[in-house]
Amino acid sequence: MSAAGQTGERIIRGIPVSEGVCHGKVLVLGGAESLAVPQYSIGEGETAAHIERLQKALTTTRRQVLDVQQQVSRTIGSRDADIFSAHLLVLEDPALVDEVIRMIEEDKVNVEHAFKVAAARYTEALSAIDDEFLRERAADMRDVTQRVLNNLLGRMDDNDLSRLEAPCIVISPDLAPSQTAVLDKRRVLGFATEIGGKTSHTAIMARSLQIPAVVGLGNVSRELVTGQHVLLDGYNGLLVISPTEQTLWEYGQLAKRQLSLETKLRDTLDKASVTFDGARIVLSANIEVPEEVEQVKACGAEGVGLYRTEYLFINRRQLPAEEEQYQAYRSVAVAVKPHPVIIRTLDLGGDKFCSHLTMAPELNPFLGWRAIRFCLQERDLFRTQLRAILRASAEGNVKMMYPMISGLQELVEANALVDECRADLRRQGVPFDENLEIGIMIEIPSAALAAPALAKRVKFFSLGTNDLIQYSLAVDRLNARIAHLYEPTHPSILRLIQMTTEAAHAQGIWTGVCGEMAADAALTPLLLGLGVDEISVAPASVPRIKHLIRRLKLSETQQLAKSALASESGEEILAASRKLAAEMDPSLFDTAV
Ligand code: PEP
Ligand code: MG
Repeated sequence: MSAAGQTGERIIRGIPVSEGVCHGKVLVLGGAESLAVPQYSIGEGETAAHIERLQKALTTTRRQVLDVQQQVSRTIGSRDADIFSAHLLVLEDPALVDEVIRMIEEDKVNVEHAFKVAAARYTEALSAIDDEFLRERAADMRDVTQRVLNNLLGRMDDNDLSRLEAPCIVISPDLAPSQTAVLDKRRVLGFATEIGGKTSHTAIMARSLQIPAVVGLGNVSRELVTGQHVLLDGYNGLLVISPTEQTLWEYGQLAKRQLSLETKLRDTLDKASVTFDGARIVLSANIEVPEEVEQVKACGAEGVGLYRTEYLFINRRQLPAEEEQYQAYRSVAVAVKPHPVIIRTLDLGGDKFCSHLTMAPELNPFLGWRAIRFCLQERDLFRTQLRAILRASAEGNVKMMYPMISGLQELVEANALVDECRADLRRQGVPFDENLEIGIMIEIPSAALAAPALAKRVKFFSLGTNDLIQYSLAVDRLNARIAHLYEPTHPSILRLIQMTTEAAHAQGIWTGVCGEMAADAALTPLLLGLGVDEISVAPASVPRIKHLIRRLKLSETQQLAKSALASESGEEILAASRKLAAEMDPSLFDTAV
C-alpha cells in the first residue's frame, strides 16, 4: 500500500471480525455526541419559524411512526404494532406540544432545546407515576422524543439501519447486536466500530450476514465525516481512509484470489465431512434467525449445531407467544430434516437485551442475570419456550441445549421444568418427540471441571468457546483494549477442552464446538486432535472447514494435540496448529495485501 502522508491515504488498524473487503462512502453515526442538542436564544421575529419547524417535525415523525407500525404489523403482528399507537398519541398530546410552543414564545429558546426540555419533564413525570402502564409509556416517550429531535436536526436515527438510502460503510462508536440484526444488507457494505471484540454478538452477526467488519478502531467516528471515501479490510482489520488507486488495485488482486478460493471450496458442498484417514467429524452450522436455513442447506452443513433463539426476542415490543416460537422452531426443523437442529434455549443478557423486559442495568452483565439463570427465575417465559421447542420436536430432528450451565443444579432444575412441560403436553394430547435429546453448552470453566458428572445426565456437550475463553482468562469478550489477551490457544483452554471431550467419551456422548474458535481454520487441527466430534460454524465458514477436515489426518492432529498439551506457550500452540492447517492448503490463509 502507498506510503501515508504522500498520497493522503491513511490507515487505521483495528480487530478484523468479519472477512471481506469493501470500499465506498462512510455514514458516521454519532453515539453520545449525536445526542447533543444545540441551545440558543431567538428573537421575537423568529418564533413563528420555530413553531412551524415543530409542526413539520411532528408531521414527519407521525408519518415515520405510521410506516414502522405498518411494517411491524406485516412482519411481527398487529399486537406488537399497537404499541406504536402510544407513540402517535404522544405526538398529539397538548400537554407536550403546548409547553414547547410556550417555551418558544415566552422563553425565546430554539425549538430543539424547547422540545428536549419539555419532553424530558413529561418523561420524568410519567416515570414517577406508580403505574406500570404509564411507566412503560415513559420508554415510548424517550423513543419518540429521539425521533422528533432527529427530524428537527436533520439527523439519521442511529437505531434505524434498516432503511438506508444509499450504499455505505457504517462507522459508529459501537453497534448493539439488535442494531446489527436489522442492518439492510443491500445498503450496508461493511461496518467499523471503535470498541468491541471478535466474539461480540455484533461481530458474530456480521459474519452471519457476510458483511466485512472491523472493530476496536479507537476514535474513528470522530476522525471521519459522512461521505468520506474509505476501504474496509475485514481480513486484516484495516480501515484505509482515502485509498489510492494503487491500494484499490492491490485489494482487487486479493478479491480475485478469494474468488478463486471460493470456487475451489464449492467442490466440498456435497462431500462428506471425513478426515483423510476416515474419521467422521459432524459439520453443522450456526444460525441466528430461521431465514438462515437456506444458507445452511446451500453451504454443505449437516444441520444446525446452534440456533441462537434470542433474536426472536429482541427488536420487538412484546414477548413472542408460544405459537409464534413454535412456528419459527418448526420451520427450521422441517427445513433441515433429516439433519438435526440444536435449539438453544434463551440466552438473553450479556450483550443481548430486549426492550420489553425490564432487566436492570448490571455492572457485569456477562457475569450476571443471563441465559439459564434468567430463565430459571422467569419460569413462565421459560416454560413457553420449552413447550414451543417440544412441540417443534414432533416435526423434525430437534435437539435442545441449555446455555451457561455452571453445574449440576441448574441442569436438574431445567430438566424438571421440561418434565412438567412434557406432562402438560401429554395431558393435552399435543405431540412431541418423547426421545428429544437434551445437551448443554460447556462455556463456564466450572462446567468443564464438572464435566464427568454432567456427562452422565445429558446426551451431548457443545463447547461455547466464546464464553469459555472470556470466563477462564477473565477477558471481557467485548473489550478491544484487552483483545490481545483473548487467547483461544492458551494452555488452560486446551486442558478444559480436553477434560470435556474425555468426560463425554467416557459416558459415550459426543462433544461439539459452536463458539467462534471453531470457525478459525488455523485451529481446526487442534480441535480435532483434542477429541472434538462436531464443529458448528456460520454457514459461510462451512466449506473452508470441510475442505480442511477432508485433508487432515486425525492421527496427525492427535500428535499435534499431544505436544500442544505439553506446551507452555499459547503462541507456540497456535503456530503449530496453523502450520499443519496451512500445509493442507496455503490458499486458505492467503489474505495478505
Ligand atoms: C459461545 O459462548 O461460544 C457461544 C456459542 O454462545 P454465545 O456466543 O451466543 O454466547
Ligand atoms: Mg455463550
